[in-house]
Amino acid sequence: MFVRLVSHSLILIMALFAIVSPATGKAGHEAVASCTLIVSSTDQPANKCSSARVVEKGDWLWMTAPAPTHVSAVSIKQSRFERAVVLFQYADGSSLRREVRAGDYGSHWRVGGSIVFAAPQHSAPLSSVAIGIKDAHLNRLIKAHLSTGALEPPPSAVEAMLIGAGLSLLLISALANFLIGIAVRRAEPLWNAAWAVGVLGWAALWTQVALFIAPQIAGTMAARAATLCSTAAIACAGGYMYAVSGRFLPRWGQRALAANAILVMAVGGFAAIVPAAMLLAAATALNIVVAVAAFSLVWACLCAWRRGSSAARDFALSFSIPTAAVLWSTYTDSGLNPGDESGLYLVLVACSLQIFGLTIGTSLRMWAIRHERDAALRIGTQLAALAETDPLTGLLNRRGFIGRADGILLTANQAALVVLDLDGFKGINDRSGHHAGDELLKAVADELSKAGLELDAVVGRLGGEEFGVLLGRCDKAKAEQAAEALRTAVAAAQTTSDGNVLKTTASAGLALGQTGDSFTMLYKAADRALYKAKRLGRDRTELAESRLSEAA
Ligand code: GH3
Ligand code: MG
Ligand code: MG
Repeated sequence: MFVRLVSHSLILIMALFAIVSPATGKAGHEAVASCTLIVSSTDQPANKCSSARVVEKGDWLWMTAPAPTHVSAVSIKQSRFERAVVLFQYADGSSLRREVRAGDYGSHWRVGGSIVFAAPQHSAPLSSVAIGIKDAHLNRLIKAHLSTGALEPPPSAVEAMLIGAGLSLLLISALANFLIGIAVRRAEPLWNAAWAVGVLGWAALWTQVALFIAPQIAGTMAARAATLCSTAAIACAGGYMYAVSGRFLPRWGQRALAANAILVMAVGGFAAIVPAAMLLAAATALNIVVAVAAFSLVWACLCAWRRGSSAARDFALSFSIPTAAVLWSTYTDSGLNPGDESGLYLVLVACSLQIFGLTIGTSLRMWAIRHERDAALRIGTQLAALAETDPLTGLLNRRGFIGRADGILLTANQAALVVLDLDGFKGINDRSGHHAGDELLKAVADELSKAGLELDAVVGRLGGEEFGVLLGRCDKAKAEQAAEALRTAVAAAQTTSDGNVLKTTASAGLALGQTGDSFTMLYKAADRALYKAKRLGRDRTELAESRLSEAA
């Protein structure tokens, strides 16, 4: 329920973001005077700079655009190349060259993923800008943007804020899920943490934030690592699905899900390390495998959802947001809607909010589990108490009494056991009925219980109309006094049946024990004394002649 609420809120936020982001993008770029070159080395070159020329010379791809005199910077959005050169050509025929190469972007890289070349100050006005890319590894789009006037180079404040917030959320969620997973020893939060780490790695690489730590990976290596991170994230999403809903799937479905995750990881790993020449083939293979994995995930979700897995439903809802964002990003990246950078930001924000939502969902699930566990513990304690309680009188039953007595005998220096058997109780049953007998038993139990409290003793019903009372730290005189007090208590108990008052008396056997005596030893001695009390006329107390160790 809560996760659904979070998912729906996220969808709403995403929708708002999708509406707002193109607008903020335009505010950041002076659309009138700037221009964006969109070049694909396979398709017919297309560009938005009306008079730009695009030519291929050997390994180099050159784009030349006549520049307005007030071009302030050139930025490039593509990092799978060996070298990128920008030639600022001036009206006096001179030109100034700026260059970056894989592994060395110097001070040209910016958070947000672009490489920025500020236009050098020169006496003559700028006439054109030529951008050369050597060994473009992927036949992907190369976007170059000419900024004009006093335009701030990217990232804009909004972009920087989104990147900061997105990466922080991902980092916090990864850590939180990892700690929850370790604490509760469950795979579900750990898969979540791994997914967050994958997305975090991918986002840190494409936004070039990773270059703060490792500037030498700039370019191809960072792009390869980003591929690895994103495929690992997809594989972990499969792992998460398996952990939360695997048991709802048929065996072959579970295997297919696991095999897909492994395949995505393997092909992603391959795509990350293949030589540049094979990159296109590897990327195609990866696209196919990712598509198959996505289909298998969707199938697994629907299948588990239909079989009653609420986690699968939450999974479907929460992952639909980043999936929609990825589709949007593919659309904006494809050149269909060129110049719009909102796609990648959407993916970042969608993933970070989604993981954040899942983290809250996981925490709530753990919270529910803790509550269930507490309830189970409470029920367990109640059952244990019931197992030791006599249902008629509410006193400890034989098992409970022996357990408590054994505990006291272990530590008490001197202890005494009084066993009381009601006198002629069979006759009461015979004359007044079993129900009346039961009522009298309850009244006796109440009196004994009160006396037990005063004597600081443990009272139990040993069976039938026989009661046991154990006194800890008690010498002979005190024990004899206690036995008499207990018999007096029994004699005070009364109930009525058909207008007649029912009362009874008890005979008591008293045994004194010391540390190390077992309950059985004391009980045997007290039982012998009780037998003697019965024999000597009932309604009296007899002390066991010797300790049971000798008597036995
Ligand atoms: P005495 O102990 O003095 O020798 O005589 P008694 O009549 O009490 O003899 P005994 O201890 O052998 O009999 C115990 C009687 O207690 C037998 C049974 O009818 C009765 N009794 C045992 N448990 C219950 C019970 O839960 N409810 C009722 N109403 N009677 C019980
Ligand atoms: Mg009796
Ligand atoms: Mg009896």
